Amino acid sequence: MQRDTLSRRGVMALFSWTGTAALLGCGDSSGEPKGDGRSVLVLGAGLSGLSAAYELQKQGYEVTLLEGRERIGGRVWTMREGFADGQLAEIGAVRIPDVHDHTLGYVDELGLELDEFPGGDPLYYLDDNRFMHKEGEDWPLPGLKPNELQATLGDTWAEYIAGAFEEFGNPRDGSFPKPGIVEKYDDQIWIDFLRQRGASEAYLPLYTADNGAEVYTIGTLAWMVAEVADQAWDKTYHIRGGNDLLPKGIAEKVGMDNILLAHKVMRIEHDEQGVTVVAEHDGAEVSFSADHLVCTLPFTTLRDVTIVPEFADDKMKTIDGLFMMNAGRGYIQTKTRFWEKEGIGGLKIAKTDTDAERIWDLSHVQAGSSTKGMIVSYTQEKHADAYCGKSMDEREAFALTAIEKFFPEIKAEKLAFFQYCWAEDPWVQGAWTDFLPGQWWMAAVAKRAEGRVHFAGEHTSIWAGWMQGAIESGKRAAQEIVATV
Ligand SMILES: Cc1cc2nc3c(=O)[nH]c(=O)nc-3n(C[C@H](O)[C@H](O)[C@H](O)COP(=O)(O)OP(=O)(O)OC[C@H]3O[C@@H](n4cnc5c(N)ncnc54)[C@H](O)[C@@H]3O)c2cc1C
Repeated sequence: MQRDTLSRRGVMALFSWTGTAALLGCGDSSGEPKGDGRSVLVLGAGLSGLSAAYELQKQGYEVTLLEGRERIGGRVWTMREGFADGQLAEIGAVRIPDVHDHTLGYVDELGLELDEFPGGDPLYYLDDNRFMHKEGEDWPLPGLKPNELQATLGDTWAEYIAGAFEEFGNPRDGSFPKPGIVEKYDDQIWIDFLRQRGASEAYLPLYTADNGAEVYTIGTLAWMVAEVADQAWDKTYHIRGGNDLLPKGIAEKVGMDNILLAHKVMRIEHDEQGVTVVAEHDGAEVSFSADHLVCTLPFTTLRDVTIVPEFADDKMKTIDGLFMMNAGRGYIQTKTRFWEKEGIGGLKIAKTDTDAERIWDLSHVQAGSSTKGMIVSYTQEKHADAYCGKSMDEREAFALTAIEKFFPEIKAEKLAFFQYCWAEDPWVQGAWTDFLPGQWWMAAVAKRAEGRVHFAGEHTSIWAGWMQGAIESGKRAAQEIVATV
């Protein structure tokens, strides 16, 4: 789930947050290790699996991770090859909001350093209209309502979204969703919630260009839960040297000897005594047994794993039905940061309704003194599907042609291009979980343990689509196992 932040500066002070991380699973506080050498298998060495393993080891458990890929980190993946001047691209997770306590807690524990994404004014390109917007000026969008005409995006966020927080409750104090909320909102997509709150049709393309096309797909409850939880979000960070230093740092603590790469999980057997997992490695089947299991496989890939005996019916339905959204990335390294000449800045330097959707600028979180640019066309949902629907050879031209509409110099400026479509990644088959209308009941079921099988992963957290969700859920699953002692 990807929401705007910088435009909200100024309204944040209106909303306090109670950082009750303990409510959301921050490990055992009694001080006594509980594992006593008991064994745990962890499926998946993304951030959730690594976090679960790390926390369990701290409690004295013997942990083995099985990972299908040849690398750890899953959707936290930094690309360092193919770009001049040692610049890097984040193919998955980019941003760390300053309210993501679980992510920042590990950043701190591992001694990693952060760079802040700078603020700045974006370019807009909506309905073939190219413009920038200064506070206090009218937006050049016919049909806006009087309250929207001069409002900042922070103002409309406060009115349409934050103005409804009280009705929904807050997951950080356990009051989300308040009684009656699920019945009222479960069938609604987020964009219809905005309409219901009074947003005009003319405002919706502006909101979408800011937040991404998924706002037309995701259910109201799924979007709102993260809005409430992260309402105090102000600054946004990136890990100096690449976000993958986070999973790499945890993996180092866990010990690479305990992480078996290129082990594709094929079968899970479980009963009251323990668990057995069969994985494929080097063309052969290998079997592992343990006292407990933490399964962090995205449900898109868990669907292909044989489970004996099958989990409860509602769990199997959730594994089959949970929606994973697509996202496309087209990274372009540029000779210069040409957009800065126009005063364009910030992380999201272009917000558009074109096939390029949004352009994010990662130039300012690169090491060294290079003046080259590193930008990404970041597409979701229908825009991602349009981009990913092209052949590999066509994608660069498709992205550059879309960008050329609002940055005419892009083809002459291009030094290198790298593309990725997350729906094509066999180990995740999508970018992140969006609970669709009617799927809210799956949130509780997805994370519920089935006997000795515990579940973690962004799809089992209120922070679906965030590193924070992966880490929070990994800690929660570890705590569940500790609590069985
Ligand atoms: C495009 C994109 C942008 C994002 N932007 C941000 C952002 O700005 N900020 C942020 O905080 N988060 C962001 N996220 C989300 C964040 O990256 C994820 O929420 C988080 O990394 C998920 O971790 P996970 O452990 O739940 O899943 P994963 O990282 O997917 O880990 C699951 C692991 O299971 C393995 N696996 C799957 N099937 C099998 C199998 N059968 N056998 C063995 N192993 C298997 C996979 O290879 C993978 O390593 C973004 C994600 C994407 C894709």
